[in-house]
Amino acid sequence: MEKILVFGHKSPDTDSIASSIAMAYLQTKLGKIAVPKRLGNISKETEFALNHFKIGAPELLETVSEDDTVILVDHNEPAQSVANMLNSKIYMVIDHHQIAGFQTSAPLYYYAEPVGCTCTIIYKLFNDNNVVIPADVAGLMLSAIISDTLLFKSPTCTEKDKTVAEALAKISNTDIDTYGLAMLKAGTDLSSFSEEELINLDGKKFTLKDTIPAKVSQVNTADIDEVMLRKANFEKAMNAEIEKDGYKLFILMITDIINSNSQVIVLGSRADIVEKAYNVKLVDNTAFLPDVVSRKKQVIPVISENV
Ligand code: MN
Ligand code: MN
Repeated sequence: MEKILVFGHKSPDTDSIASSIAMAYLQTKLGKIAVPKRLGNISKETEFALNHFKIGAPELLETVSEDDTVILVDHNEPAQSVANMLNSKIYMVIDHHQIAGFQTSAPLYYYAEPVGCTCTIIYKLFNDNNVVIPADVAGLMLSAIISDTLLFKSPTCTEKDKTVAEALAKISNTDIDTYGLAMLKAGTDLSSFSEEELINLDGKKFTLKDTIPAKVSQVNTADIDEVMLRKANFEKAMNAEIEKDGYKLFILMITDIINSNSQVIVLGSRADIVEKAYNVKLVDNTAFLPDVVSRKKQVIPVISENV
């Protein structure tokens, strides 16, 4: 029987890792051979969750070939996926993002819902298949929901995410608020990372309106001012990538997870898009965006509209 590789996006977040592990587990229970993989380094937040529930990190995957069968979780865009993804045998996609640049030559399973987290969709797949979720996997899936919805405060969060999170908390015997805050706080420890690393820990590439190559990176913090002390070095790292990869717009969101706001650093020849989109003036390449925390819901669609 062929082995299925299960992976989320590059610069993996907690949802990409948890979804890969949960989905590989489910497939195994359904009689397949499935292995979770990761497309980059594990973040501090994800490391905290994996350690808490005593689950090992998936192994790194660099590329795939046409002989590989894959399940994509938490993404579908080729720019965010493994090299050569569109040429592999795509068996299934489970995702909660816009669909862009994705096409296949063969039929496939595609599960998409506009919910706050891929693990919310995977929970339903476990139920539909009558497979029991083990406590450790449930804890990891709960971690993903907490991460993607910033403890239910992000506008991407739906009632379904909350209901599923409560069910997963019960299975894993976890206090959502205590554990959730500790996990999110673990992700705000940026001290050991260089600015080059920070803009890639959670960085995604997009092509806005098929014409503007853009990158939007995000770091979480409990203290925006502290992170902004590194602004000059962030700008240096961002400009180096603009030079190398040809982005016309590079946004770094520094997101305050306690008060749900973001300070953005914006560089590139089309930085004007951000000024127009949010009706702000960038001063020294930066602006404060109140109530903006979600790249997916409050940044990508908003800037795309203003290209
Ligand atoms: Mn993700
Ligand atoms: Mn996600």
